[in-house]
Amino acid sequence: MDEKINQLRKHAEELREKILRASDLYYNHDAPEISDFEYDAMFDELKKLEAEYPELDKEDSPTHRVGGVASAKFEKVVHPVKMGSLTDVFNEEDLMAFVKKSTEALISAGYSKDDILYSVEPKIDGLSISVTYTDGKLTMGATRGDGNVGENVTDNIMTISGIPHKLPDPLNLTVRGEAYMPKDVFERLNSIKEENGEKLLANPRNAAAGALRRLDASETAAAHLSVFVFNYQTGNLWTEERQPLTHAETIARIKELGFSTIDIHAIVKTPEEAVEAIREIGEKRFSLPYDIDGAVIKVNTLAQRNTLGENPSTPKWAVAFKYPPEKKETRLLKIETNVGRTGVLTPLAILEPVRLAGTTVSKATLHNIDIIRQKDIRVGDMVVVQKAGEIIPEIVSSVKEKRNGTEQIFNFPETCPSCGEKLFYDNDDEGGAIRCQNPSCPAQLERRIIHFASRDAMNIDGMGPAVVRDLIENGLISKVEDIYSLKKEDILTLPNKGQKSADNLIAAIEKSKARGAARLLYAFGIRHIGYETAEALTQKFGSLDSFIGIDSDKLMTLEDIGEVKAASLISFFGQPETAALISHLKSLGLVTESETNGNGSLADEKLAGLTFVLTGTLPTMTRGEATELIKSHGGKTAGSVSKKTDYVLAGDDAGSKLTKAGELGIKIIYETTFLKMLEE
Ligand SMILES: [Zn+2]
Repeated sequence: MDEKINQLRKHAEELREKILRASDLYYNHDAPEISDFEYDAMFDELKKLEAEYPELDKEDSPTHRVGGVASAKFEKVVHPVKMGSLTDVFNEEDLMAFVKKSTEALISAGYSKDDILYSVEPKIDGLSISVTYTDGKLTMGATRGDGNVGENVTDNIMTISGIPHKLPDPLNLTVRGEAYMPKDVFERLNSIKEENGEKLLANPRNAAAGALRRLDASETAAAHLSVFVFNYQTGNLWTEERQPLTHAETIARIKELGFSTIDIHAIVKTPEEAVEAIREIGEKRFSLPYDIDGAVIKVNTLAQRNTLGENPSTPKWAVAFKYPPEKKETRLLKIETNVGRTGVLTPLAILEPVRLAGTTVSKATLHNIDIIRQKDIRVGDMVVVQKAGEIIPEIVSSVKEKRNGTEQIFNFPETCPSCGEKLFYDNDDEGGAIRCQNPSCPAQLERRIIHFASRDAMNIDGMGPAVVRDLIENGLISKVEDIYSLKKEDILTLPNKGQKSADNLIAAIEKSKARGAARLLYAFGIRHIGYETAEALTQKFGSLDSFIGIDSDKLMTLEDIGEVKAASLISFFGQPETAALISHLKSLGLVTESETNGNGSLADEKLAGLTFVLTGTLPTMTRGEATELIKSHGGKTAGSVSKKTDYVLAGDDAGSKLTKAGELGIKIIYETTFLKMLEE
């Protein structure tokens, strides 16, 4: 028995670790690694385990965390009716068991079998909101928050199509719906981001959550959110004395009032009919213009819902059925290698095109060579692919039974596919990396210039990946400093460039000269040197010239610099080309001294002596910009929360740093408060 408990304890601990890792990747790095389905299933398993064996339960288990917390940047709203969540079921047996059990309970409460009906509807993968009307006018729109207290985002909710600002009748009413970003809007926004070289949105739900919680409603409007109202929470649906009897009746009435409502897919009686209905929804789920992550099965008659009542945190009269991610088999045609900015080669699977989760898929990520080895994936294999909440699908496994002996074990090329130089195996990155070390490798040049011009670096507006590629292909740029020798006539020779866009690009290039030493140092794209490190370095050492010939002892006097970063800096600044590059850039008028900040204004000391830790996505500025502001006002930033932290500056999807700040009693502020501190 002890043996068994110990094994279960170990298993519970593993589940907790996996769940925490997955939610950290999802919320803090916007890079989900497992599918929502796997996540929900693990969470469910852990919850069951803890319920069955209370001795395995732990106070800090992720199962005890509330779903979401209202952010202090918005006014808090107490919901008139709790916005609960549903119990999830992951297979047809559990769904049938729910219908069977509820029907039996209702029969024993005196209902006739023929009167017990269930509505089945798709479950939209979005963000739950509540909207309240007073005398027929929209007076409050709120996020779900933890279900009891949400955030007042009325102005933002008013930008969502499908939510009337005024009802045809003077009703007092609260409805609940799911706000979502339609797939086509999501794809459009991502193609713009791709064009600008920005990080892509992971999925429509994350994108909708971000858009709904903007401080500026015009930014929400730009995200073109839609809604499906799926529940009447409280109030009156009619001006006359009348109460709805069924869920279907409330939905019909809500639709009549001008809301965009969920389509009830079917009204069913038996467990078998319920299964059939969820299968039908499942079949069409990828052809819908919005994402769904399941189907909801609810008791239709409102009085019967009251009879069944509630579990501690979920109603007994409904469950959510979760669809597993779609998996398909296809052939792995070849594995290509791409050369990144720092010379690392990444493998990319080229697949025989296959329809998966509503899109045609012909490429998949393979992460790195170790994963290819572990999964024993060979060129020519039939492979199983799935989309796990991200844009590019992944290869789950190879189908070894279908091999015919012609499949090839993949090996990285000996030489760089771009420049032909010999490649090196590098052990200091996670998982091991193959790297091209040729500084003038063309593939690296392209990635380097894209990075140099990007928003957190030199922020050259209009110089995204497509323009960079054109400039290189037309021979206008062969090294970074060539950007500053570009003339309007040059740009006019590029495809799709007219007088106006050429003028704009020249102006943007000119403007970037004053960004300052820290951004320039970061823009060089030196391995391991992120923006914050670049900022700390230039604050301490002044000008970029002072790094030439610097030794590691001197560099390591900075808290942020360890051996790896020091070695990387010494290698970069040790090349004779670097000294020439810096002096050339200086002669072109770029700021290489750190006395002035990126805006060209002299620093003040409003934040002197204060240490900030940044977490989450800020509504109007990048983390680089926020860091720059803090430093330019005499403050400091740190990577992790400690007793020495004065403020945690938090944005959307702030993660564990916020919890840590709460534990240590560190003050948490949001962007508006932060900006006020600077104005004072
Ligand atoms: Zn190369």
